[in-house]
Amino acid sequence: MLKRWLCHAEVTIDLECLDPILVKSGQPTIDGPDMVPVVSMRSGEREYFIPGSSLKGAFRSHTEKLIRTLKPNSVCAPYIETSQDADSLNDLHQSCSTALRPKQKAEAYRLSCPTCRTFGSLSFGGRLSPSDALPVGPKPIVEERDGVAIDRFTGGAVRGAKFNMLVITAGTFRTTLTLRNFEFWQLGIVHILIEDLSQGLIRIGSGKSRGLGRVKGNLVNYKVSYVKPQEELCGIGELCTPEERRSYGFHLAEYRTPSLGEPQVRGLQHVYNITDRYHEFSPVLAKAFIDFVEQGYKPDWLTQIKRGVR
Ligand SMILES: [Zn+2]
Repeated sequence: MLKRWLCHAEVTIDLECLDPILVKSGQPTIDGPDMVPVVSMRSGEREYFIPGSSLKGAFRSHTEKLIRTLKPNSVCAPYIETSQDADSLNDLHQSCSTALRPKQKAEAYRLSCPTCRTFGSLSFGGRLSPSDALPVGPKPIVEERDGVAIDRFTGGAVRGAKFNMLVITAGTFRTTLTLRNFEFWQLGIVHILIEDLSQGLIRIGSGKSRGLGRVKGNLVNYKVSYVKPQEELCGIGELCTPEERRSYGFHLAEYRTPSLGEPQVRGLQHVYNITDRYHEFSPVLAKAFIDFVEQGYKPDWLTQIKRGVR
């Protein structure tokens, strides 16, 4: 999206295991546990890590829930494929990927729901991407646990369906969320993820209903970069041309934020480190996100597309 580099944010977060976590590799071992976490080799040693794609899925689903809470029917159902003739289905259950696939990138972005705009769809890549979370500090502790498959009809154990799994019971993993050419309200999504992670409200990996996957996030570093120096925090809607804004439907934010202070100049980038002052920016970022969902985005998009209004 946009063949120009206008703004960029990098947010590094440490994720500490509160409950055992299992991000399944999908490869049962021959004589070991049936379910094992993803692992790679580094310096000749096995190293467990949390893939960025798993984090992205957890963050996306958490954001979808929040947006639906603020305004019902305002996000699509990304995994539902509907036929061309979808009259019998509820329009609001169609996904942006299905509905907007034939359209040009700018138009697809303009018509997409807030989560597809941020995390991507089949029409364009996402603005927000987390890196793989690698262990930091003491080596993570891994233990084997037993599990029993539950019969969904009787609620009892399924005979002969015992399995064992390897879970990470203690450890801290570091990830960096990168947000490229972001809109101002999308920094509000990052803000909510930081806050909810800090309260242990987001679970990652498998077995969430078995009590697995709760992590606590601690903000390590928060940097925002612009090619041109800025007085205040802003997004692509304030930096692009009026034509680009119309074409992509970027939301223009009209908020005052605390001063960004003096940048560090790195090549062409003006880098502002707001890690220690992050909470000064929190109220305006939360407000921008809520305002965009409640007022800046129209939830009747699919009905309008089908009727040819847009
Ligand atoms: Zn969508």
